[in-house]
Amino acid sequence: MEASSVGGVFEDVVKKEMIIVLLGPPGSGKGTQAAYLKQYLKIPHIATGDILREAVKNSLPLGVKAQEYMKQGALVPDELIIEMMAHRLEKPDCQKGFILDGFPRSEVQAKAFDQTLAEKGWTISKTINLTVHKQLLIERLSGRRTCGKCGTNYHIKYNPPKKMNLCDLCDGELYQREDDKTETIDRRLNVYQQQTAPLIKYYQDRLTNISGDQPKEEIGRVILAKSNDKI
Ligand code: AMP
Repeated sequence: MEASSVGGVFEDVVKKEMIIVLLGPPGSGKGTQAAYLKQYLKIPHIATGDILREAVKNSLPLGVKAQEYMKQGALVPDELIIEMMAHRLEKPDCQKGFILDGFPRSEVQAKAFDQTLAEKGWTISKTINLTVHKQLLIERLSGRRTCGKCGTNYHIKYNPPKKMNLCDLCDGELYQREDDKTETIDRRLNVYQQQTAPLIKYYQDRLTNISGDQPKEEIGRVILAKSNDKI
């Protein structure tokens, strides 16, 4: 989608400070949408899963503590995530706003985030909940392949790379995330239902539900348009 195709809406959106929270189960397209919106809004895409995977890859203390939980499809303890996000949100690139993908993922995290917002005088511009049927989530997650070098995601059926198993952007080798394997997907979806889905209620007065079953350009267009609404 070209910037011009969202016209006046886009013009208005980029003038304001933007804090967008993307909620939705694993496989609902939060990462895809965040990467997409980032092009238009020129604010960072903060994906807690990516930060954690990078920490694991580099054997940082955070990664060492988090990796077992991640492998099992469980949530990393709240206190580690809250501390990690406190550092991330201090960075200067967050001053004009940011897109959150994968945070908050529990009520404890949502409350900690509310406190950070209050301290900084920030307000959430939009909380988007992407809804997708369970069968489609399973298909998306099990077919996902990720670039080991730059983290770009592909899908073996819906978004295959041009060269088999190689990233279109950086030629990095694609791999299947440990937690995208069939055994772990079910557990992640259950963890989502039990620990993250309650956030739908937490944010109910400021939540916009969008069907994540549509083409990504259409979802992106709707999010940009809704981000300009008051609620
Ligand atoms: P994701 O890439 O968002 O699917 O996250 C991958 C994994 O990282 C999750 O299954 C969790 O183990 C961990 N993780 C990511 N974000 C969070 C969070 N906000 N709270 C707890 N664990 C998280």
